[in-house]
Amino acid sequence: MSSDILEILDREKDHDDTEAGNYFVANYPPFAYWTTEAAGGVESLLERPATPEVPLGVYFHVPFCRKRCHFCYFRVYTDKNAEEIKGYLDAGMAELERYANAPLFQGRKPRFVYFGGGTPSYLSVSQLQALTGRMKELMPWDAAEEVTFECEPGTLTEQKLSALREIGVTRLSLGVENFDSRILEINGRAHRTAEIHRAYGYARSIGFPQINIDLIAGMVEETPENWRENIRKTLELQPDSVTIYQMEVPYNTGIYREMKAAGKLTAPVASWQTKRGWVDEAFAALEADGYTVTSGYTAVRDPARTRFVYRDQLWAGADLIGLGVASFSHVAGTHFQNLPEFSQYLEAIRAGRLPASRAHITTAEERMIRELILQLKLGRVSCSYFADKFGVDLRARFGQQWSDLKTRGLLGEDGDRLQLTREALLKVDTLLHAFFLPQHRGTRYT
Ligand code: SF4
Repeated sequence: MSSDILEILDREKDHDDTEAGNYFVANYPPFAYWTTEAAGGVESLLERPATPEVPLGVYFHVPFCRKRCHFCYFRVYTDKNAEEIKGYLDAGMAELERYANAPLFQGRKPRFVYFGGGTPSYLSVSQLQALTGRMKELMPWDAAEEVTFECEPGTLTEQKLSALREIGVTRLSLGVENFDSRILEINGRAHRTAEIHRAYGYARSIGFPQINIDLIAGMVEETPENWRENIRKTLELQPDSVTIYQMEVPYNTGIYREMKAAGKLTAPVASWQTKRGWVDEAFAALEADGYTVTSGYTAVRDPARTRFVYRDQLWAGADLIGLGVASFSHVAGTHFQNLPEFSQYLEAIRAGRLPASRAHITTAEERMIRELILQLKLGRVSCSYFADKFGVDLRARFGQQWSDLKTRGLLGEDGDRLQLTREALLKVDTLLHAFFLPQHRGTRYT
């Protein structure tokens, strides 16, 4: 008997073109298994006694952008005025107040805070100061090891960056995506090359403890020469960490709508093999420059100093309160997502209801698999960690998967650790499906 690994690897050869659909595995069980019925149970979760031993994080979703990128699949708004934005931020704080007063969160302070989007840096300095001031009143940040803030380079001024530092942001993440203005324009990004350099210069001079640069391998019209130029410019800047995503084309993107209108099945972006080759090339160049690859997407300049608390805590089962429209939470073993429409979200908050729209109460086995697949994205898993936390013998429980990976030369062992090769790490999201429970395999991952 073989696991799905061999089938996945064989199928991959015939599906090298980038077709429409989600590639990235963000959570487990897949969202298709979350239900509206389960969302009804979220209120009662908050009444449980506090669990101070479980690390806690807070995510705030800012769904506003200057314009919509052609590859974007998030629900973002480009037309909200200052009053509507204020209404949204107030609603987010009313939501946080609800959590802050709940028995489950008494005596618990966030270990990490994350502002994602959308474009958090779309907010003005005064909006940011008011928002974070209120957040800290409700749930103080003095125990937070990391505060991450996602930015679009064209929205950053020196004054805004100084305000972010004063607010307590420790990890600034710049959505560079590509250094070439023409490629940025073709892909519908709002910023251009000059804005990247200007924003990076200000951020460095202000002295953020950590600056991350996001890149996307395989944007529309990316070429090998241009990709090499992206690597060269990244090395020139010497960011503390570099995150590289492989371009995917989910169904709700502008690129997919154009494909559909033209009757095409294949997206106008590089093949998966080419994209993996580009990430491989970038990782090799970064390693040659002293960086360390710490996941299938990330390289860091100094692993002793540069951590990513949000990722590491979340992937090890921390609780996460997700605030704002369409945000994802993971609390006391239950996954839930907030209402996905702006008006529905505001209406729920104004009516004093929790805005949860779909949820899934995980079993102990699902929580174990969730941590396994998320930690495999780091390229290695510790067997003793899983034995201690879940009482599972990882080697025996997934014996067939490990054996199949070894047969294809994709897995090694290092004492307690099972370790993916670089080749496996670059296609890790494809391989993870083989670790899903049988009832969760073969469905669309949305
Ligand atoms: S900046 Fe990010 S969230 Fe906004 S449209 Fe572009 S990809 Fe989407």
